[in-house]
Amino acid sequence: MAWCWTPSHPADLVRAIELQNVGGPLMVVDRPPPTAIEGATVIDVTACGVCHSDIHVVDGQFGSPHPLVLGHEVTGIDKKLGPVMVYAPWGCRNCWLCETGHEMICPDGAEAGLFVDGGYAEQMYIPHREYLQPLGDLDPIESAPLACGGLTAFNATLKTLETLNRRANAARALVIGAGGLGQFGIQFLRLMSDAEIWVVDQSPEKLDRALALGATRAVTPERLEGTYDAVIDFVGATTTLESAVERVNRRGTVVAVGLYGGAVPFGVGAVPFEVQLMSSVWGTVLELGQLIEFAHHHPLQYTVETMPLAEAEQAHQRLRSGQASGRIVLVP
Ligand SMILES: [Zn+2]
Ligand SMILES: [Zn+2]
Repeated sequence: MAWCWTPSHPADLVRAIELQNVGGPLMVVDRPPPTAIEGATVIDVTACGVCHSDIHVVDGQFGSPHPLVLGHEVTGIDKKLGPVMVYAPWGCRNCWLCETGHEMICPDGAEAGLFVDGGYAEQMYIPHREYLQPLGDLDPIESAPLACGGLTAFNATLKTLETLNRRANAARALVIGAGGLGQFGIQFLRLMSDAEIWVVDQSPEKLDRALALGATRAVTPERLEGTYDAVIDFVGATTTLESAVERVNRRGTVVAVGLYGGAVPFGVGAVPFEVQLMSSVWGTVLELGQLIEFAHHHPLQYTVETMPLAEAEQAHQRLRSGQASGRIVLVP
C-alpha cells in the first residue's frame, strides 16, 4: 500500500517513526532495513495500532531507551507464513515463566515497541517466528488492535469464566470502565458466558455503547446494585478497586486490569471470604492464537480510524486530546 507522501524516500531504506527523546515529537526517518539472523525474521508491516501505552512511552513512564520505534499492535506479511499478527511482549525465553508461555510477565522481558523497536515502521524485526500468529481471513488493518487491547481484555475475561460458569445462568458479572478494553470485555463475557453483565462508567455515551454491545445493565457508579460473582476492573483506581472488593461475592473473582495505580487492603475479613483477587497483564502467545480463532467465528465490534504511518505524531495528538473516534491504526 503506497501513500507516497515524500517522493524522496530512498528505495534501499525503510521508513520508520522514531522517538528520539522523552516527550517526543515522533520523527519520520529512513533507515537501513533490519536484517534477520538465524531463527529470526523481518516482516513487512501492514498496520500498527496506536495504544494508550504508546503515550506513556513517549512521556518516559516506562524508562524506554532512545531512539525507539514504538508500536506493539502489529500485523504484517511474513515470507513463510503470509499475513500474521505479532505477539509483542517478548520475554527472555529462559525463565520458568517464559517456558510456560507467560512471556508477558517475564522479569527480563523486552516488549517490542516499549523496549526494543516495534511496528511504527515499514518493516519490523521479529527475533523468533513463534511470535507470529497466522491472521487467516481477518482484515489485517481492522484486526491490529486485537494484538494488545483485544488480547488484554481476552486474558482478563478468561480468568473469570471458571467462577461464572460455576453458577451457570445465575451468575452476575461486573465490568468497571467501558472504554476500549471494557468494550472488548463486555463482548467476550457475552460470547463466552451466560452471566448477567452489568457495566459501570461515568460517561453516558460509553454506557449507551455498553448496552449496544450486549450489557444487561449499564449504570453510573451511584446506581450500581447487588453483588457479583466476577468483577473486571478496567480502570484500576483505588475507588474502582474498592467498589470491586465491596461488590464481589464470597468465592468470587476480581480481575484488575486498568493501569490507574490504585490499591485496596487485603486480608481475611478485609475482603469477602475466599475471593480471588488477581491482576491481569496482556496475554500469552497461545491466547493470541485463540483470540484470532475466536474473532473468525465471532466478529468483534470496535471502530478503527486509519492514518498514514508518517502522521504518527498527529495520531498521538489526536489520542491525547480525546479526538480519536475509535482505535487509531497507522498504515505504511
Ligand atoms: Zn497496548
Ligand atoms: Zn523469561
